[in-house]
Amino acid sequence: MAKPHLLIGGIAPFSTVDWPGKLACVAFLAGCPWRCPYCQNHELQSPDAATATEEGLFALLEQRRGLLDGVVFSGGEPLAQETVIDAARRAREMGFLVGLHTCGAYPERLRQILPHTDWVGLDVKAPWKTYDLVTRAPGSGRRAQESLELILAAGVALETRTTWHPALLSPADITAIAHDLAARGVESWSVQAYRATGTTGELPDETVYPSEVPDDLPGLFKTYEFRRA
Ligand code: SF4
Repeated sequence: MAKPHLLIGGIAPFSTVDWPGKLACVAFLAGCPWRCPYCQNHELQSPDAATATEEGLFALLEQRRGLLDGVVFSGGEPLAQETVIDAARRAREMGFLVGLHTCGAYPERLRQILPHTDWVGLDVKAPWKTYDLVTRAPGSGRRAQESLELILAAGVALETRTTWHPALLSPADITAIAHDLAARGVESWSVQAYRATGTTGELPDETVYPSEVPDDLPGLFKTYEFRRA
């Protein structure tokens, strides 16, 4: 049986923000098994959101050889589609660096794609034990934790990011997340303040400010950034 093609919800041909320090094309893959209430790509949670083709993506990459550093597979959750592993391998063979945005929902697929991946942006959404309150998916904390451990063991460059809405995470939660990551040897952490743009609007329109991040946390990391998500 022929392998299914990637379901792509959109392509950004040039981005300087999706992979820090790199000029990359970004493929937003359709489908995600989790339902975070702050999701800014909620229309991409369904596989039915596909509007672009894998061949379109690779035709674009063919035209951009020498102009782009790499390609980022984002979403949705890119590992919701097993075919992304072959796509990463193919992009590498063309000479592109490969970046991956993931929530960590598919540790086994992550293990398979890591040898073809140069950088990972991993969401760390909550303390592991209360993960499901954010993702609304049973067992999500165990999966995300296993994904983090796989990336660290593989030695692939990693940025962790935590989206902070005050109704979902307390300052004590933020502190617990940061200390857990630092104790594991994570060197890069970003706090992304909730923004209502692109969400379903189900959360109260509140946000957080850089001064609300406890003072001792940024110094735990080699690289720390506060962003508006
Ligand atoms: S894991 Fe990411 S794509 Fe999936 S629902 Fe949460 S924020 Fe949206």
